[in-house]
Amino acid sequence: MHNCTVYYSIFTTKFIVQNTNYFPGDAKDGVPINGLVSHSQTPAADTDNTRQNTVPLFRFRHGLLWVTDLVSQTWCEQKMVLQFTQPVSYEEDPVMTAGTSIHLARELAVQDSVMLAITSKEDSFGVKVLNIVTAILSFLSGRSVAREIPIFGAPFDSGIFVSGIIDELRCDPDTFDIDLVELKTRSTKSLPSKAQREANRLQVSLYRKLWDDLVAGRTTKDVIKKHIAMKFEKEFGADLLAHISASGLGCRNLDELLDELSTKAASMVLVRRSAVEYCHQADASTIALTDVEYDERWLQTRLLHAAHYWLGEREAVGVAIEEAWKCGRCEFSDVCEWRRRRADECARANCLRS
Ligand code: SF4
Repeated sequence: MHNCTVYYSIFTTKFIVQNTNYFPGDAKDGVPINGLVSHSQTPAADTDNTRQNTVPLFRFRHGLLWVTDLVSQTWCEQKMVLQFTQPVSYEEDPVMTAGTSIHLARELAVQDSVMLAITSKEDSFGVKVLNIVTAILSFLSGRSVAREIPIFGAPFDSGIFVSGIIDELRCDPDTFDIDLVELKTRSTKSLPSKAQREANRLQVSLYRKLWDDLVAGRTTKDVIKKHIAMKFEKEFGADLLAHISASGLGCRNLDELLDELSTKAASMVLVRRSAVEYCHQADASTIALTDVEYDERWLQTRLLHAAHYWLGEREAVGVAIEEAWKCGRCEFSDVCEWRRRRADECARANCLRS
């Protein structure tokens, strides 16, 4: 009876890291990762200082990307780069604060959070893995919803390793069908612009691809080791070990925990449906639940194009002429060289016509 109580408890628990200076894997998607080195090319190349300073993947992101990096890139690649390089003071955004509160309330409605003291980047990544295992165990025990589930992988073998946090997975307790839902909060009761919906589509499709790769056994331990420089056999810290043990697992290091993840993930199925839920900030009511078309070839094309920039194989580009309206609301419009060059080109073309 005692064991049952423990199992029930862990199925409703989300582990979060107390000190995020190792690998902030349980921080919200978009927080930079410190202290990690990618082996996406050759190990020798990764130790090359020139490469570290010039290749955007290493210069801006220490070798690992977040799904939100790729989403920002979709909006305007030049703007994303300027956000890395130009100092901008951000004031607290009430819209974002309201959105964060709704996300938190939804998460706490289905699971508790337990703060873990971590002692290494291996611990921090271990917490991320443990949270995925915990979500899967909760589905296998009959629960139907898990929220804020970490996910990672190297989609399409594109040379980049991507992490993210899925807002919500819904699991049919009878068929184990999985639906993936991304929550977006809105200040008005309306749907966002086409450009914003396109960015949302990329985000949801990427989460779906990462989940499917994990379940299908494509995110292997070897793939992870190729991209993340960690001591996979280093023993976890005492706090994490205690919680892994309380979860009924016998893993003492990343190597063993990733084996557990592979086994558990293999019992899950691919995503059946992916959607975005638009939610009104004022009262947290649902404005619309819209299906997201999943097209693997579309996603692959977008991702490979994005990866070429991160791997230093092409320069960053700004928005196309037909999306110049984005420049009008961009905080970098005064310093953006891309915009200035496009304006000069237009002025010259107008001169030639007149
Ligand atoms: S001004 Fe336009 S092209 Fe330049 S960063 Fe902003 S949105 Fe992108």
